[in-house]
Amino acid sequence: MAYSYLSHLHCPKCGTEYDASVLQQLCVCGSPLLVDYDLERLAVEVKRGDVSGRRPDLWRYHELLPVQSEANVVSLGEGMTPLLPLPALGADMGIESLLMKDEGIIPTGSFKARGAAVGVSRAKELGVRELAMPTNGNAGAAWALYAARASIRSTIVMPVDAPKITRNECAVSGANLVLVDGLISDAGKIVGRAVRDFGLFDASTLKEPYRIEGKKTMGIEIAEQLGWDMPDVILYPTGGGVGLIGIHKALKELQAIGWIEPDRKLPRLVAVQAEGCAPIVKAWQEGRSESEFFANSETVAFGINVPKALGDFLVLAALRETDGCAVAVGDAELLREQETVARLEGAFVCPEGAAVFAAARALRASGWIAAGERVVALNTGAGIKYPDTVSADVPVLKPEDSLTR
Ligand SMILES: *Cc1c(COP(=O)(O)O)cnc(C)c1O
Ligand SMILES: [Zn+2]
Repeated sequence: MAYSYLSHLHCPKCGTEYDASVLQQLCVCGSPLLVDYDLERLAVEVKRGDVSGRRPDLWRYHELLPVQSEANVVSLGEGMTPLLPLPALGADMGIESLLMKDEGIIPTGSFKARGAAVGVSRAKELGVRELAMPTNGNAGAAWALYAARASIRSTIVMPVDAPKITRNECAVSGANLVLVDGLISDAGKIVGRAVRDFGLFDASTLKEPYRIEGKKTMGIEIAEQLGWDMPDVILYPTGGGVGLIGIHKALKELQAIGWIEPDRKLPRLVAVQAEGCAPIVKAWQEGRSESEFFANSETVAFGINVPKALGDFLVLAALRETDGCAVAVGDAELLREQETVARLEGAFVCPEGAAVFAAARALRASGWIAAGERVVALNTGAGIKYPDTVSADVPVLKPEDSLTR
């Protein structure tokens, strides 16, 4: 039994195959690369019961992950987050079986820890000494902190408007942190020049193949937590779309190795975006297979402010293949939902997660989500990372004052 059943990389656009034992970035055609495993051998040699007794983190699925040697695993204990029933919120929106996969309690405060754990581990295994990436905040924070644990130097470029706490996470990790007066796409251009000029490893979203592998573990966990079954619908707040691509990939791999029913229909995947940055939704509505740059994008849900995603065609294909859809919600709507989730369930979700709940409410109201369907909503981070999205108007007492009711 191998620690990993990694076999090679391939390009989903032109089909070219790549050697996975050396560092790779994009395909020569410009597309992201996807990771392949020897699933036939894995299916014979590893049974799903084998993972059940392992530590509750994402490395319990190491056979389906790319890291070759356990010695190279860089972990802060990420993964196996709760899949919580939300009965009160579900009743409020007419979804009887509403579950939240809560990534708010993961190291670094967002699910970017999953991509960073696997991406940094694999980078370390392949000899990377210094990496660079643009970020809207959470990815930079996660990669900076995991890189620190791996003794890899990092250069992180983020918009000046990115959530302040993510800036501090990068700074405290000792990363070479730079702010840009612009968007993540502008940060990307600066990183591109640094990569070219200084020979840094480019850890930009989907420019290295292993971040998807970390994020796909959300899909494996959802299946395992449902007793190796699948929900009817999974809603995901979509920026670069890495998590959605990853969950789709995970479920197909689990079917291929027989850990979940191969003939059962996959969950309908829903890409949720903010109205102020909805390139995938626009492409979906127009029936296109790729998105266009979404100009002047703006939303309080900073993690999904991505005007053009490199993996847009993979997201749109996953939506099509699973009979899913793409929907946009307004900032006011998602902020209202953030409050509703906290009041009914005690969960302080991030704005991106709140967008997903607002979308679930709308899709149930329109009938797209049917009565009785089991729905999983991804909360991708902790509400406490965005202290300014909530304004509290509270009375201040003098010590001698008493409460009135
Ligand atoms: C990055 C991010 C997203 C979007 O993730 P992608 O995989 O890039 O689509 C959603 N929510 C939060 C909190 C994020 O940080
Ligand atoms: Zn290609």
